[in-house]
Amino acid sequence: MRIGVLNDRAVLVHADHALDVAEASAGRFGPSITGILHDWEPFAAWAAGADASAGSVFDPHALQNPVPEPRQVFAVGLNYAAHAAESKYAVPDFPPTFTKFRTSLAGPRGTVELPGPTVDWEVELVAVIGKYAHKVSEADGWEYVSTLTAGQDISERDTQFDAKPPQFSLGKSYPGFAPLGPVLVTPDEFADRDDIELGCTVNGEQMQKSRTSAMLFSVPQLVSYLSGITPLLPGDIIFTGTPEGVGLGRTPARYLNDGDVLRSSIAGIGELEQTFVAPSGE
Ligand code: ZN
Repeated sequence: MRIGVLNDRAVLVHADHALDVAEASAGRFGPSITGILHDWEPFAAWAAGADASAGSVFDPHALQNPVPEPRQVFAVGLNYAAHAAESKYAVPDFPPTFTKFRTSLAGPRGTVELPGPTVDWEVELVAVIGKYAHKVSEADGWEYVSTLTAGQDISERDTQFDAKPPQFSLGKSYPGFAPLGPVLVTPDEFADRDDIELGCTVNGEQMQKSRTSAMLFSVPQLVSYLSGITPLLPGDIIFTGTPEGVGLGRTPARYLNDGDVLRSSIAGIGELEQTFVAPSGE
């Protein structure tokens, strides 16, 4: 099942067709995607019987942020060994966790203003929580994930690292620094939900390319670890960490400039596209 948002209304997506959820369910679900994510299991049961191919043809570039209002946003650092190494950190014993503040969330396509000279890319698989999760075991972790989507954990490295101790959450929360999408995909759609290809390019040059099977802490391990400390709520999202190939890890370091186009893709989900622009004059 693939779910998107068009014109602020939840839709079921099948190829180039989108079925309006509120219309097709006669008002039982939608049009708010947030309401659907908070009421996931009844929605998923209904959607399993809906025929998304009966929907109208739509413009994929019009898809909006599929998780615009999560109550909590978790993000995990250093979850790939090669990225920890390029960042000159030791491999962590537990998932180091921060947040991306909600105002940084954005849709799958758009422009992002450069707030400083060290803006960097981090493609990440994002897991969406489907039901209240507290003290969940690793074995049960996937049962609490409704869908997966693509995300970018865009980061301004000076803001992140000039402070002592580092300001991960603030340095990664400028407007537009958390694009999501283009759609939400249920885990059953993947041949192997624990081994999904992800990567990104800048102006067409491949920067990152890896697979989620390389994560140090898998999606169910993250659900178990986080929910062991703080309850996870339906519709919450977890940025699961980025693989190697970020600009910070290059010699010399490489960052985004005015006019650069960042394309991020996750197999089975789709593509994000952000164009970076210099700040408008003040
Ligand atoms: Zn990250």
